Amino acid sequence: MPIRSDYHVHSSFSGDSDAPMEAVIRTAAGMGLEWLCFTEHMDFDYPVSEDTPEGLFEVDTKAYHEKFRTIRSAREDLPHLLYGIELGLQAHLAPRQASYVSANPFDFIIGSSHLCHGKDPYAASFWEGRDAEEACREYFSSIIENLLSFTDFDVYGHLDYVIRYAPDKDKDYCYEKYRDLFDKIIDLLLEKGLGLEVNTGGLRYGLGELHPCSEILKRYRRLGGDIVTVGSDAHRPEDLCRGFDLAEAVMKDCGFTHYTVFSCRTPHFIKL
Ligand SMILES: [Zn+2]
Ligand SMILES: [Zn+2]
Repeated sequence: MPIRSDYHVHSSFSGDSDAPMEAVIRTAAGMGLEWLCFTEHMDFDYPVSEDTPEGLFEVDTKAYHEKFRTIRSAREDLPHLLYGIELGLQAHLAPRQASYVSANPFDFIIGSSHLCHGKDPYAASFWEGRDAEEACREYFSSIIENLLSFTDFDVYGHLDYVIRYAPDKDKDYCYEKYRDLFDKIIDLLLEKGLGLEVNTGGLRYGLGELHPCSEILKRYRRLGGDIVTVGSDAHRPEDLCRGFDLAEAVMKDCGFTHYTVFSCRTPHFIKL
């Protein structure tokens, strides 16, 4: 049975998408999806630049929730439509993240690292003046700091996202190179009862593997981890569920027997 959920989806409520929610839902229903979770961007304290005007990645939560409720009550051809958020984590934002999460009735929360110590790996300046390994180490270390400061979310999103923007992308990237950091991250995820997201979005950036790479998934599974959601990170309806055949094969190969969906912040497990 193919994967019938997409748990990482953006619509025009995210600053980098112009997809109407209705169009996303229509496409998902047409594909026979049973579970669809919107996860709009909420990144506090995003550095302002020419490409990123102030507040670009801060969803208008009230408008998003109102629209979502209206749409959910009107749609009957998609069995499970969920209200989620992709929260950009940084350790210094922990108190703000905590109050935002407790003030909103999300079904599902992805914690993601889009920024690292206030810097954006998307910008060339993140990589300049040092080798890629040093920059990646700073990024993965910041994930540890994030996990030590705030854990009120459900899965860590696209764990090795930084590789998308490395000068040589994933050419020299492997789990072994950062094993000390990844093992610490996985230990913390397990200790806090958090899951991992299998994110297929990196395939659209020319990466050869999913986020995170299969060695990370394998280790998480081997140590008892069983919470894995699957997300396309679609910003356009046509990208929904892209790469899910590969995700299914990789997850099975890593020893997973189920994938996870959430409602009201509670995990449910569906057989792969
Ligand atoms: Zn993201
Ligand atoms: Zn996203």
